[in-house]
Amino acid sequence: MNILVLNAGSSSLKYELWQTSLEAIAAQQDKRLLQGEIERVNSMSDALTAACEAGASACPDNPIEAVGHRVVHGGDIFHSSVVINEEVENQIEALSVLAPLHNPHNLEGIRVARRHLPDVPHVAVFDTAFHFTLPPYAYAYGLPYDLLKTKKIRRYGFHGISHRYVSWKFAQLHGKTTAHYRLITCHLGNGCSVCAVEHGRSVDTSMGFTPLEGVMMGTRSGDVDAGAILHLVIQEKWQPMDVLHMLNSESGLKGISGVSNDMRDVLKRASEGDARSNLAIETFCYRVRKYIGSYLAAMNGADAIIFTGGIGENSSGIRMRICEGLSNLGVGIDGNANLSTNRDPRRIGWGNIPVWVVPTQEELLIARDTLRLIVSST
Ligand code: ADP
Repeated sequence: MNILVLNAGSSSLKYELWQTSLEAIAAQQDKRLLQGEIERVNSMSDALTAACEAGASACPDNPIEAVGHRVVHGGDIFHSSVVINEEVENQIEALSVLAPLHNPHNLEGIRVARRHLPDVPHVAVFDTAFHFTLPPYAYAYGLPYDLLKTKKIRRYGFHGISHRYVSWKFAQLHGKTTAHYRLITCHLGNGCSVCAVEHGRSVDTSMGFTPLEGVMMGTRSGDVDAGAILHLVIQEKWQPMDVLHMLNSESGLKGISGVSNDMRDVLKRASEGDARSNLAIETFCYRVRKYIGSYLAAMNGADAIIFTGGIGENSSGIRMRICEGLSNLGVGIDGNANLSTNRDPRRIGWGNIPVWVVPTQEELLIARDTLRLIVSST
């Protein structure tokens, strides 16, 4: 079956075309036929027309038979992937208040794609769904209980598609299921999050009510004392939208270094002796290390630590700096293995707690979920 996977953002449309089947999944012979991105999207309809045309020319003999959509926020409604109908669209729309920067764009992608391809099933795969298994003590904030119950203020967690994929892949490489392992998965890309995966279930994760919480990111602050924000609003008279912009777009690596949100630029400037770039990198690594430590505590140990995402997969230096303070906990990185630029999943540390790099494949997981749902519902 040919499945178009769409990731509709605020100004871009990423798409991939996958050919898969139950047999292909079992044999891991799913094939990616096409990968593309349309940047600076003005009209989602035009962008989708272009993506569908590219898809059609990549497989002229077989039409697109289903569409899988990445949706950031599934709230406490969607615990797994679903076939999209009118009601699901409306629920995703209602969840936009929880993810105003993401869900409206995802939903627009869904609506336009359903108009473009009305005769094929469309499936939504949520970034939050994998974290549905968090126990209440991990998702509750220390806030009045009423806010949890009536306003749904709680940890949801994101990047679930990636955390789920790399933990599955790790287990599969060992010929086992995820039920055998306690894993700490570190997705370090533009957005960054760490996840504790116990026996295949997410039991804690660093992103929270929004993708702002947790480790420091390219432009997002990660954890910050809410009191500091209140100080800016009350004493310094900052407007809420200014605070939102500062926390999401002017903080993190970019905010501390003043150089860039791209780790490669910050590393380069740090190597030239720039003190702020060095501080940005030290802060970044220290915070990831602290989260790894807290998830070792959450699971009473771990069977592996897995790095993924643009930084996690490509930056040997960042991986080294994150892990170098963990040697007494049994985490060690092998210098040569760490430096390898091999693109396959690979082990890079031989301590008691092995360290791995597992490249993520979120689109593949979306294509597989889409296929499985369609097959099981027909
Ligand atoms: P997204 O989270 O948007 O999917 P990616 O996972 O592709 O993004 O991660 C993008 C980030 O990965 C870039 O901003 C860059 O900082 C980082 N990155 C990519 N390659 C390298 C590298 N060789 N060294 C360090 N950082 C890298």
